Amino acid sequence: MHHLYMADGTINPKLFNKKIIIYGCGNDGKKLFLQLKELGTCAAYFCDSNDKFCGKRLYGVSILSCTQLSDYTDYNLALAFHQYPQVLGKIPEKMKQNTFADFLFQHEGKRKCILCGQEDCTYDKAHFAPFLTERMFLGKKQATRLIHCRNCGLYYSDYRPAEHEIARLYDCYRNEMYVEQRKKYEPEYFNEKFSKEQYCKERKESIIKFIAPYVNFEAIKTVLDYGGDKGQYIPNEFCHADKYVYDISGNQTIEGVTLLRTVDDSKRVKWDFILCMHLLEHLSEPLKTIENLIELLHDNSYLYVELPKQDYMHQYSDVEINEHINFFRESTMRKIGEMFNLKILDVKTENVGLIRVLYQKSKG
Ligand SMILES: [Zn+2]
Repeated sequence: MHHLYMADGTINPKLFNKKIIIYGCGNDGKKLFLQLKELGTCAAYFCDSNDKFCGKRLYGVSILSCTQLSDYTDYNLALAFHQYPQVLGKIPEKMKQNTFADFLFQHEGKRKCILCGQEDCTYDKAHFAPFLTERMFLGKKQATRLIHCRNCGLYYSDYRPAEHEIARLYDCYRNEMYVEQRKKYEPEYFNEKFSKEQYCKERKESIIKFIAPYVNFEAIKTVLDYGGDKGQYIPNEFCHADKYVYDISGNQTIEGVTLLRTVDDSKRVKWDFILCMHLLEHLSEPLKTIENLIELLHDNSYLYVELPKQDYMHQYSDVEINEHINFFRESTMRKIGEMFNLKILDVKTENVGLIRVLYQKSKG
């Protein structure tokens, strides 16, 4: 089997060495047909595992059934859909050596998952969003793929941005110039909701609703919002606690919240409750940050994590990676609990596209 697409997103030139059959009459198949056409090549046939298509035509090209493939084993076969392993059994053995697929299992040797360390990953096509290309890579096209770890469920960008690239991305994050630059590529991007009081209030209330059944707020004497911007999202219920934020942005914190500028500073306090919200999806080394967080917990401390849940990667064959380079699942959050001996008090995926988890550090 061969890659259908190269790392830079172009079609594998080897596909053009023979006449081409496109397997799959769905959207991906049509897309591929038109893509080939644009390159001056007309596919010879379509093929589909659904026999109702057999004998019909698509774009004037005949549709074969799977059983007919055995008459065409000297053609190249391009699998134009996502879950291609399901049909591998239908392809004649002889034809597999000239089969091209969008992504490959256990591709190019084994690779360890950046989070759980297991070597059970699949690969998918992906590219960085134009805004990221300009801001992070100064306009130079950086190839990447989407990796999916089947052990912990994490999806992540294969290319891990270097420290200086991340710094470029978050320099003056969401200030006027940043928003201006981003709107050029994403006109729908607004800064508004990040300053709106109502948004802030709702976010805090939703956190409380989730954690209240498990937490006695009076007993919480120290709270840290790790990566928490100005501390504006620390819920008001923590009124018996000293409130801190660890954040590298250097933003002035809101009244009543103390800013910690280094991880070492945050190690000097014994934390009862730590929040980590919408941070891990941005980081090149999420494991390192999780380890830092774990180190800050003592027996019975709580750790509340909030992350976006993004499902769109299942819907497209070429995923656009925006400022999030890691995509977590509930299964990933459970695995983190297992890895670090944290008790999961609650974990929930909400239909607004959020995952919430409340961990507690177990004794011993
Ligand atoms: Zn993993």
